[in-house]
Amino acid sequence: MAEPKKPTKKPLVFYYLVTLAILFIINAVVLPMFFSKSITEVDYSVFLQAVEENRVTQVELSGDHEEIVYVATDQNGQPQTYITVAMPDPNLLERLRASSPDIKFSRIRPRQASPLLTYLFSLFVPILLILGLGRLFSKQLQQRMGNTMSFGKSDARVYVEAQTGKTFADVAGQEEAKEALMEIVDFLHHPEKYASIGAKLPKGALLVGPPGTGKTLLAQAVAGEADVPFFSISGSEFVEMFVGMGAAKVRDLFKEADKKAPCIVFIDEIDTVGKKRGDGGFSGNDEREQTLNQLLTEMDGFDSRKGVVILAATNRPESLDPALLRPGRFDRRIPVELPDINGRTAILKVHAAKIAMERDVDFEAIARATAGTSGADLANIINEAALRAVRMGRNRVRQEDLQESVEVVIAGYERKNATISPKEKEVIAYHEIGHALVAAKQTNSAPVTKITIIPRTSGALGYTMQVEEGERHLMSKEDAMNRIATLTGGRAAEELIFNMATTGAANDIEQATKLARAMVTRYGMSDQFGMVAFETLANPYLGGDSAMNCSSETSAQIDKEVIKLVKQGHEKAINILKDNLDKLHELSRELLKKETLTGQEFMAILES
Ligand code: ADP
Ligand code: MG
Ligand code: ZN
Repeated sequence: MAEPKKPTKKPLVFYYLVTLAILFIINAVVLPMFFSKSITEVDYSVFLQAVEENRVTQVELSGDHEEIVYVATDQNGQPQTYITVAMPDPNLLERLRASSPDIKFSRIRPRQASPLLTYLFSLFVPILLILGLGRLFSKQLQQRMGNTMSFGKSDARVYVEAQTGKTFADVAGQEEAKEALMEIVDFLHHPEKYASIGAKLPKGALLVGPPGTGKTLLAQAVAGEADVPFFSISGSEFVEMFVGMGAAKVRDLFKEADKKAPCIVFIDEIDTVGKKRGDGGFSGNDEREQTLNQLLTEMDGFDSRKGVVILAATNRPESLDPALLRPGRFDRRIPVELPDINGRTAILKVHAAKIAMERDVDFEAIARATAGTSGADLANIINEAALRAVRMGRNRVRQEDLQESVEVVIAGYERKNATISPKEKEVIAYHEIGHALVAAKQTNSAPVTKITIIPRTSGALGYTMQVEEGERHLMSKEDAMNRIATLTGGRAAEELIFNMATTGAANDIEQATKLARAMVTRYGMSDQFGMVAFETLANPYLGGDSAMNCSSETSAQIDKEVIKLVKQGHEKAINILKDNLDKLHELSRELLKKETLTGQEFMAILES
């Protein structure tokens, strides 16, 4: 609704009470006053006396001779109206006429209003009042609900051209995605080039990839580069409060786009509307289904030669309705994957460009330490580093700020004033050195770069950082076994030195088990089962659940195999630590003293 809504000052009860009061006054005061003047009831003798004293000026005898209404002057000489019962008094009339020659015999009380009229009056006045108030309330209600009452009419605001101000220069890495999108931009600039050769461009392109990899950013960059109108809407905006609204929005959007062609329509988070139809038991999703159907219809309906290109983004491509993905709709899929080391370096540089940095900052070292992070994480790391520099009272960001913020993003902030008893500190130190030692003594393990026993807000009481020297794309079975051994190294040290097990290893155990399970069910790395997949990932980009598909007997055997693998790793870790017991003690003592050891310090002691 266009007009700004007025704040409602009075609660509903107030209006209700006012209505009641008005009705009460009408019933008790106004109506009787309207129908009769105030009349005093008196004794018959009072009447006789007034007649004798010649004070009566007007008399009304009711037809049935039951009462007499008369006007007489009172002590002050003012005329007053009285009523009294009629007595059998045959020559009353003569006496009255005798008492005063100009006495009037006429109606004093107004004629009783027609009973029908009275009835209608008392019936309709309240109804009218209530109707009036009802109108008032419903108007307020509409204002409060905002524009939801304007059925079928979408907010024009949603479809205005986006002024993103972003270009491809803002998107680091993702070269393949940029290339594919560049082609679309080029088509919108020079459609004749494509038309002359007879090539048809895809109607729609779907950006798929894990969260935070720059899908939305890429679409915004396309808008900046394209120099054509760019309509942007998020999938969730289609799913409306009222049935049919979503479909109407889709219709409006495409009508608008058709008018503005050539142009780009971007639907972010398309999985909110584009989910497979007909799944899920309850059919509470008619609305979504209708919206999707409308979207499919519209995509078929327009001619891509006119130059309407539809971009969409999602991190759940597996949940999309197949009808959306068939040729002629979103027939081109542009993967936007997690960045590799070069991509990470480039992203760090793009974001660092907006920040005052020391000149000798080594972005590659940071990129190496952040394998598996998304562009959004990296942007966050740069910002955290800048915040830390300010906290430290510096005006430029240093390498150490970046390194610390990597750890903040991975493990949370340092808990400086957490109190941990000396005994527990000792256990934690041995635990961490256990990890580091096992990692260092295995060939092919990533080098240890940092060991710390300063607790973090994530709950970690200490941790050991390992950073690969180059980018790894494959993990061999040996690597996986080494990793399991390294993960169990912490607990192995606790057992070896203190002969006890603590809860500190919970996270290690979880990770080791997960890896061992994946080795058996997905990587074909177990001797017993060989190359059989028992598990499929349900949503590869969100790293979520996986679905088991095997018989219960196999499932039990898989469990046994997983246990075997973890046990193997654990034994290996114990053996490594036993062989290096003096180093374990020496390093742990050093770590207890310093709380943090760098990779070099660690290796120096290990190799001394
Ligand atoms: P998605 O839509 O894929 O979930 P976004 O596009 O919203 O991710 O990215 C979130 C933020 O992460 C961006 O605003 C940007 O700051 C940063 N980012 C992600 N990928 C990149 C990239 N390739 N280059 C530069 N910045 C990036
Ligand atoms: Mg996004
Ligand atoms: Zn551990």
